[in-house]
Amino acid sequence: MDQTQLDLPRMRGDAGVAEEADEDGKNADVHNRGELHVHMNGAIPMSKIREILTDEATVLPAGFELERDLVRATPCQSLAEYLTPWQVLRLFPRKRENLDRLTLAVIAGLAENNVRFVELRSSVLYLAALQKCSPAEALERLIESTGGAAQRHGIRRGLILTVTRGDYGAVNLSALLQAYQDLGEPKDMIGLDLAGDEEIAYPTELPSLFRAAKDRFGLGITIHAGETGLVENVRSAVELFGADRIGHGTAVGNDPDLLELLSTRGICVEVCPISNRLTGAVPTNEPHPLQQFRRHGVPFVICSDNPAIHRRGLADDQAAAMAEGLSIGDMRQQYEVAKRYSFMKDLN
Ligand SMILES: [Zn+2]
Repeated sequence: MDQTQLDLPRMRGDAGVAEEADEDGKNADVHNRGELHVHMNGAIPMSKIREILTDEATVLPAGFELERDLVRATPCQSLAEYLTPWQVLRLFPRKRENLDRLTLAVIAGLAENNVRFVELRSSVLYLAALQKCSPAEALERLIESTGGAAQRHGIRRGLILTVTRGDYGAVNLSALLQAYQDLGEPKDMIGLDLAGDEEIAYPTELPSLFRAAKDRFGLGITIHAGETGLVENVRSAVELFGADRIGHGTAVGNDPDLLELLSTRGICVEVCPISNRLTGAVPTNEPHPLQQFRRHGVPFVICSDNPAIHRRGLADDQAAAMAEGLSIGDMRQQYEVAKRYSFMKDLN
């Protein structure tokens, strides 16, 4: 898909376009969607970010321009360039009520894309630091805030807690799991995610901590792996971390052994077509590996990753998947596929 094909309509839910949501017909054929890979702070509409930054009198990093640096709508030179918006996304919400405001905007954007259930990802520890509260309090706020917004829009939601690769991965995971236990193991929390720079090492005990959390609490495990070409990260995600799903996994398309492994074990790949083109995970001149996934019987779900940063929505990601060779029939089946591989129980 070239750049012009990426020039799709702006994300539903952004200021002023909500009423146009169905005009281009993207929602006309697919009435129900499930979203299994979306980062909460990558799904906040620009208009809401502006409101909150103003309300909290946030000082932006030197040289950061919101219109230019908070949007990634054309392919980036590097993953680092793609991640520029997070220089600001990590600075808010410092106020409790602004967490409610941004959560409501995130869920509204999903509802406009016909999303009926969503697994929302967030790293709670940054929220605890911003709101000067304990990790357990931050998790409780996130549960209340997302729960209220989801109920208002008639969407089911579960929470996935994200841990970042690097030296503090194990300490941070332990802190999150302690918070989860302090709150009495709330059913709202359904899974764990590992994200961050795939070149960075992680503490040797981290994989066993993920597996222990899966065994003890029944949490689903999804690992961002194989996004920057490192197939060995996908293998370790499966064999060491006990991954139930793989985020992106684009490198797997060229590895017959791994395609076989994912297919045999029924491990689902969360395919984010627009994100993959913007980050360069799939180069402009190459086909998207989702055709390989389908050919080898690797299950996959189409997801949106950071829809507001892309100025798109899940409907656009499904359209992008069709531009990559999938059919409208494939898209209609996606709802059932998403249900099957969701970490949320009782979705029917
Ligand atoms: Zn992601």
